Amino acid sequence: MSTMIPIQNAEALGCTNTPVLSEKGQREVFCGLTGIIWLHRKIQDAFFLVVGSRTCAHLIQSAAGVMIFAEPRFGTAIIDERDLAGIADANDELDRVVSELLARRQDIKLLFLVGSCPSEVIKLDLTRAAERLGRQHMPQTRVLSYSGSGIETTFTEGEDACLAALVPTLATRSIRGKHLLIVGTLADVVEDQLGALLRKMGIEQFDFFPPRKSTALPAIGPETVCMLAQPFLADTAKQLEAKGIKRLSAPFPLGAEGTTQWLQVAAQAFGIDAQHFENATRAPRQRAEQSVARHRVQLEGKSITFLPDSQLEIPLARFVYQELHMKLLEVGTPYLHRQIMAPELEQLPSSTRLSEGQSLELQLDRCDADQPDLIVCGLGLANPLEARGFTTKWSIELVFTPIQGYEQAGDLAGLFSRPLLRKLKLVA
Ligand code: SF4
Repeated sequence: MSTMIPIQNAEALGCTNTPVLSEKGQREVFCGLTGIIWLHRKIQDAFFLVVGSRTCAHLIQSAAGVMIFAEPRFGTAIIDERDLAGIADANDELDRVVSELLARRQDIKLLFLVGSCPSEVIKLDLTRAAERLGRQHMPQTRVLSYSGSGIETTFTEGEDACLAALVPTLATRSIRGKHLLIVGTLADVVEDQLGALLRKMGIEQFDFFPPRKSTALPAIGPETVCMLAQPFLADTAKQLEAKGIKRLSAPFPLGAEGTTQWLQVAAQAFGIDAQHFENATRAPRQRAEQSVARHRVQLEGKSITFLPDSQLEIPLARFVYQELHMKLLEVGTPYLHRQIMAPELEQLPSSTRLSEGQSLELQLDRCDADQPDLIVCGLGLANPLEARGFTTKWSIELVFTPIQGYEQAGDLAGLFSRPLLRKLKLVA
């Protein structure tokens, strides 16, 4: 199988040793509470109780949009003035709120206490609170905690903190044989497709983490290897590695090429022969290549800048360069985990300007100088950038939309072509 390298950009590949522009300013991104929006949809018997302020409640309610009218699987225990002033005992208040919630909602099998800036400011120890409440409510409900606070986490780091909190609860696997753990929240439809492909390749023993039900948490053992399906899970990966689970290093399953390479790493680890792999993946890969090609017509040669937001920036940059033949100007990411990103970095053109962290004024100056055709950025920056005449794409859409795997490759390409098409229509 061949790697799709843009012909017109036949330049040196490899950003592994490229110097990175390190930015030290304030981050213009959502906090880690945002992860609740996709995590609560995934783990269907879990409840996320944010221990925070009205601001935190507004954030997740507005980010969740219309979903708040559905049966909620998240809520906020509001820390009010009495708690902040130390008049009320915040632990007693929390115990009362949790008891009322669990009495009312017996369907909750896993309760996450999610820390916020206010809970950190008043130094409410949610780890101890979770232990105390867990003793009280087990076996009906397991109680865990993690931080989604803006002081400690940005945007997608909330999922990392949540999954890292779950790792110690994974049981030891009793079934013999090599086992693959796929780590990172994926839409159910993507899981089903990847699962079917793995089976077709001959890999039968695999689990997705997190699972759809907390009562079906995967067990892990000495024969388990893991692969990340999302790039922002450095702490979770570290925790799994500390338990002796080997991480298979691979590009992320974005686009026809990324998905093929990701599956190929799994195939190699499980000793699947090349012909069998080719037979299992040829048809969906070709479908993906054709659907991406339709968008390439629009995007080939167009320049793009990624501002730091979701940590998906580097894999997405590889996709738009490799498969849509776009020209990378700057690829910014909130954090650059070199080990996790190594297979991605080696496929970026070596001329790519990489930046880590945020320094908004400097980044805007560089956008003004570069004049990219498209900027992928956080929600808060899109309007000001559009007002300056730029075309933008919200990076949060790339987190919320199912974009992994062969069948989603065309949709992923469409997320980049649509804003440019819209701009053309407005100008015409
Ligand atoms: Fe704001 Fe902090 Fe609450 Fe996030 S956790 S909504 S940053 S106050």
